[in-house]
Amino acid sequence: MNAAPKQPLAPPPRNPYLARMTAPLIDPFARAITYLRVSVTDRCDFRCVYCMSENMTFLPKADLLSLEELDRLCSVFVGLGVQKLRITGGEPLVRKGILTFFQRMSRHLDSGALKELTLTTNGSQLARYAPQLAACGVRRVNVSLDTLDPAKFARITRWGRLPQVMDGIAAARAAGMRVKINAVALKGVNEDELFTLTEWCAQGGHDLTFIEVMPMGDLGNEDRLDQYWSLKDLRARLATRFALTDLTDRSGGPARYVRLEETGQKIGFITPLSHNFCESCNRVRLTCTGELYMCLGQEDRADLRAPLRAAPADDAAVEQAIRRAILHKPKGHDFDYSRQTVAGQVTRHMSHTGG
Ligand code: SAM
Ligand code: SF4
Repeated sequence: MNAAPKQPLAPPPRNPYLARMTAPLIDPFARAITYLRVSVTDRCDFRCVYCMSENMTFLPKADLLSLEELDRLCSVFVGLGVQKLRITGGEPLVRKGILTFFQRMSRHLDSGALKELTLTTNGSQLARYAPQLAACGVRRVNVSLDTLDPAKFARITRWGRLPQVMDGIAAARAAGMRVKINAVALKGVNEDELFTLTEWCAQGGHDLTFIEVMPMGDLGNEDRLDQYWSLKDLRARLATRFALTDLTDRSGGPARYVRLEETGQKIGFITPLSHNFCESCNRVRLTCTGELYMCLGQEDRADLRAPLRAAPADDAAVEQAIRRAILHKPKGHDFDYSRQTVAGQVTRHMSHTGG
């Protein structure tokens, strides 16, 4: 008996997540959602004064998404058009097994679906992890560093040690990663280091971004308005020493950039309290418990953990929940420091949503 002629098989899809993709994520204000920030833990080995109270209560471990669940969720997002993934926390590098997660995510870089895999870290564990992160395709890392003074560093972070972070930054550079420094502008704390920090970054080849304090989370005795140093003032002071050229670069986020003509460095200003970035906002945030926040400054969120756990082998419900959530992305946030009160304060901590 003659066997039926074989039908040529269709080539397998290059990436199953891409193959499944139907329509990209577009919110009601026609903004394409291409950037996901993922908090992989609310825990941290520091207790920065603007971020946490000294006696933080952390979430029960059972509430956290497992690394497999995080992989699954992030992969669904990649399938829906997310091209940039920033891993944050808490301190992402204190999450047990986190390298496995980076290794798993690197397959989306290999497939071309993901354009960038990156992280924001306090740098304390970088010396240990930098080579493996680089091997996973991490090309850039944001390290938070508000001061170059060891005593001040200890005061700001309460539990941190500056030399450990410096070693981490050196290890990241040695592994071939670009390091961007994030510094929170703190009134009366690092005002006097504006030029030293800028020049230190220039020498090390680091871009530098200043962040205005955001009114998030209860800090115990710390007062937000005491910490607040306006970036308008910071920028004006920077301009007394350097020639600043405005850049048109937009990250889809709250940063505005200038170039310092004397050093060639790119300096960013993140002023989340201004509304001037909302119209181009391309991002959403996933917490370590699987809640999706459509805006850092709003309480609206969607639970993705329930659909994820309800159907362990089927992503359709998760995908639907994501699409429904994106339809609720607000036009902008409600932060406001005017009138010298902290209006629009958000009760959750930055370490929960992921800064
Ligand atoms: N632990 C990592 C780190 O410190 O880089 C990642 C998480 S941390 C929440 C992310 C960023 O948020 C850091 O650059 C930190 O300085 C910033 N941050 C935390 N609390 C903030 C606040 N209340 N206002 C402004 N920035 C804040
Ligand atoms: Fe930890 Fe980062 Fe918050 Fe500092 S800013 S306490 S390092 S999560």
